[in-house]
Amino acid sequence: MSCIFCKIAKGEITSQKVYEDEHVLAFHDIAPQAPIHILIIPKKHYATILELEEKDKDLIGHIFMVANKIARDMQFHEQGFRVVVNCNRNGGQTVFHLHFHLFAGRLMHWPPG
Ligand code: 5GP
Ligand code: ZN
Repeated sequence: MSCIFCKIAKGEITSQKVYEDEHVLAFHDIAPQAPIHILIIPKKHYATILELEEKDKDLIGHIFMVANKIARDMQFHEQGFRVVVNCNRNGGQTVFHLHFHLFAGRLMHWPPG
């Protein structure tokens, strides 16, 4: 398996970890697009959001609870933040292991580019 995020999840490639549990890892993005740019990934490999099934609903709910926890722990919850998932080419996805971008620390633009 040559997936870079699987390697990060297994600890084969180092990352700046923010949060970890049995199912999920959160770490700082290598090329941050905001003062705080964290990626939250399931440890299990899904190439895109399209591979999710009914049985994965709890995992996705858990990922949003992890985003909630990180925002509170890092004290940017009241100022606000954005959670983004890119899917396939038009979504701008470049790494094909499902990940949730967590952006904070500046005013976000709308609509996104
Ligand atoms: P996508 O464009 O697929 O939604 O987002 C992929 C993200 O992964 C990008 O923001 C990119 O900077 C980040 N990224 C790619 N390779 C690495 C890596 O090896 N380590 C970390 N921490 N982030 C990475
Ligand atoms: Zn993977």
